[in-house]
Amino acid sequence: MTVNLRVPGPTPSPAMVLEASGQQMINHRGPEFRDLIFRLTDNLKTLFATTNDLYILTASGTGAMETAVVNTMSPGDRVLAISVGVFGDRFTTIARTYGADVVEMKVEHGKVVDPDDVRKNLRDDPTIKTVIITHNETSTGVTNDIGSVAQVVKGEFNKLFLVDAISSIGSIPCPVDAWDLDIVTSGSQKGWMAPPGLAFVSVSSRAWEAYEEAKCPRFYFDLAAAQRYLERGQTPWTPAISVYYAMDTATKMLLEEGVENVFERHDRVARMCREGIKNLGLKLFAEESVASSTVTAVHVPDGVNGAELATLMRTEHNVVLAGGQASLEGKIFRIGHLGYCSEDDIQDVLDSLQVVLPQVGFKG
Ligand SMILES: *Cc1c(COP(=O)(O)O)cnc(C)c1O
Repeated sequence: MTVNLRVPGPTPSPAMVLEASGQQMINHRGPEFRDLIFRLTDNLKTLFATTNDLYILTASGTGAMETAVVNTMSPGDRVLAISVGVFGDRFTTIARTYGADVVEMKVEHGKVVDPDDVRKNLRDDPTIKTVIITHNETSTGVTNDIGSVAQVVKGEFNKLFLVDAISSIGSIPCPVDAWDLDIVTSGSQKGWMAPPGLAFVSVSSRAWEAYEEAKCPRFYFDLAAAQRYLERGQTPWTPAISVYYAMDTATKMLLEEGVENVFERHDRVARMCREGIKNLGLKLFAEESVASSTVTAVHVPDGVNGAELATLMRTEHNVVLAGGQASLEGKIFRIGHLGYCSEDDIQDVLDSLQVVLPQVGFKG
């Protein structure tokens, strides 16, 4: 029996993607790789809805977040860090690690940021140069309204705007150019249906202006090196070629399905998941109006041990769920439904929960 891997990354890959990733190695300084990187970069630009520069890095998503920071900031730069959960906190920590003077704007877990509060912060502190934010907070299952926040950050205050869209772009609308986002990051193991190993960053001309002044130390993630090499169809360092193969096939599959259809599918599957959870008598963690279409967070009911629930789901039903992270450990569990996921996969989760819940003491 196959495992129903329902963590919000790594996500399952379709057979075609796995087959592609099993192909023989090629010279990463040769013509075949050049064709591959040009094709994949173009496909990703289409899926990011951008004509900005876009780079493929051999790294996990966090490497793309670090890339956004070190290429645009200098130690001492005033940065507004909006965090609605664990991944927002991570972005904050990276900026701080490189010496940014961070103003933290923390939002209660399960909620999203209010653009009016962002406006107030930017009005109160004109020294802020850069705003960093998470689009889809995977730890709590909410999606920030980046379009509205961008109207404030870019439209009203013209600040540099860096967005972690690692668990959203490609699955939930995040039109980079329409929203005027300066740097947007993602990673191959989320909605892209590919194994972990590659990260993506789109870079606006405004971000390149920031690059010219940015004094943070950088080497592996230096975007000027990425640009210099991309002009020749290469990467500065040895790329994860197998994941390029996987992403080449996966992006073709997404484009064939059609971006709008992909968004619609994620929306539909997420709604079905939330309805099913409520029907089981469980409580959703996030407010439904802001609930994510890629991951659903659920309260562990009173009297139920979350770890025991997850273990039974895995050992008896081959369903792998994610637990809560940091302060939410033991309090919530999460169901990933991004990438290669259909109603059937979620129905299997719901059916299994129905059997397991009474076994772990849920009275419902
Ligand atoms: C998964 C994820 C990350 C981190 O990605 P890694 O690939 O584990 O480094 C960052 N932000 C968000 C929103 C994520 O979902």
